[in-house]
Amino acid sequence: MSFETHLEKVIPRTRDVKSFVFKRPEGFDYKAGQWMYVNIKIEGVTKMHHFTITSSPTEDYLMFTKKITDSPYSQALDKMKGDEWFRLWGPYGDFNFSGEHPKLGFLSGGIGITPLRSMLRYIMDKKLPTDVKMLYANKTEADIVFRDELEEMQRQDRDIEVKNVLTREQDWKGLKGHINSDMIRQQMPDFKERVFYICGPPSMNAALSKELKALGMPDDMIKLEDFTGYE
Ligand SMILES: Cc1cc2nc3c(=O)[nH]c(=O)nc-3n(C[C@H](O)[C@H](O)[C@H](O)COP(=O)(O)OP(=O)(O)OC[C@H]3O[C@@H](n4cnc5c(N)ncnc54)[C@H](O)[C@@H]3O)c2cc1C
Repeated sequence: MSFETHLEKVIPRTRDVKSFVFKRPEGFDYKAGQWMYVNIKIEGVTKMHHFTITSSPTEDYLMFTKKITDSPYSQALDKMKGDEWFRLWGPYGDFNFSGEHPKLGFLSGGIGITPLRSMLRYIMDKKLPTDVKMLYANKTEADIVFRDELEEMQRQDRDIEVKNVLTREQDWKGLKGHINSDMIRQQMPDFKERVFYICGPPSMNAALSKELKALGMPDDMIKLEDFTGYE
């Protein structure tokens, strides 16, 4: 489905991440984790990128969340305050979740949280009995996107566990360094029962799926979403 709309709201998330929120048009059905094409106008010229729909199908708005870079597209988004013209079309993508697996392992870095936030919101709102363990990598505490919401989800649902893994935070009491097979085995002792969803830049995804394969995980229990454009 393709439709024209206007931006309703911008929500700053971290120093370089913002969410962009729209009214959800009637008939726009999607699965948690899917993505859409997003057109904006830059000096009268239409430009397109694709973004995960960070909202969940259980929510009555559509939202995408962008890491703001120096690109003209990012800079145009960064200046927006509301009411700007957009064309959105979708949904697309096989990296989605509707309750089909009882146990999940989420591995994510930085802005790669977006489809996983959609899936977690969906699991919460639908009150699914899904057991989720997530390792979420960032450089510093200030870079953790959706931190408050993820913490709130853990408080409300004892089958959801989110552990932040930081690479550049000296005083951090939690997990440090890069996610690897040892960390996965320690943090998810039942990892063999979990279907893994990995989302981040292509090099991170390749490294993480190698770690999972080293643990003996079969290909059909590893799902990947490559966020191209950041490397
Ligand atoms: C399925 C999917 C979902 C995504 N979801 C998100 C999301 O939720 N949030 C988010 O911030 N980003 C997401 N991305 C990445 C996003 O589409 C942009 O590529 C990224 O934001 C970089 O754009 P930029 O404006 O910062 O830089 P740009 O200057 O536009 O891009 C940086 C470099 O990457 C190249 N490039 C840009 N887009 C692509 C592309 N799609 N494929 C290959 N090369 C590209 C450009 O030519 C340039 O060389 C997603 C990508 C995919 C494929």
